[in-house]
Amino acid sequence: MEENILIEYISSEFKGNMSEHRYTCTKQYFNLTCAHRQHGHDGHCRFIHGYSRSFKFYFACHELDSNHYVFDFGKLKELKEHLEYMCDHTLLINEQDPYLEMFKDMHEKGLCNLRVVKNCGAEAMAKYFLDFANELVRRKSDNRAWCYKVIQWENDKNSGTAEFISN
Ligand SMILES: [Zn+2]
Repeated sequence: MEENILIEYISSEFKGNMSEHRYTCTKQYFNLTCAHRQHGHDGHCRFIHGYSRSFKFYFACHELDSNHYVFDFGKLKELKEHLEYMCDHTLLINEQDPYLEMFKDMHEKGLCNLRVVKNCGAEAMAKYFLDFANELVRRKSDNRAWCYKVIQWENDKNSGTAEFISN
């Protein structure tokens, strides 16, 4: 009988609005330990300091897959590996950092595990992983699903977000 009630509800006057929808899901990764410095900052962020970075990825689709998932998280292995490659016991340095060569030298001497990025801040790293995750999910789903938003926490208090606003 409940099924009948549901069908009745869907065929109500709201049907028009309800046909315009998408499905979403999220996946989180916690506590990736890395250091960085924001070379242009006029305060203490120009000093090398470390955070335990956490990430939340938002995925969407219009049509669910055969398992009724937005996206099978079992296919996110490349994302986890790349998060760890970039942010697990690494030092993130901006490509414009005037001391980049010195950090490269430190890397070669085994003093740090250097990753050179466009910008190491929370918003910029959220955008970096938004592009990475979106490409991965679109590729693995034949463009059925996508990633539209990433939040990156640097600690319990502060986060940065990047999102595509068209979808
Ligand atoms: Zn800082």
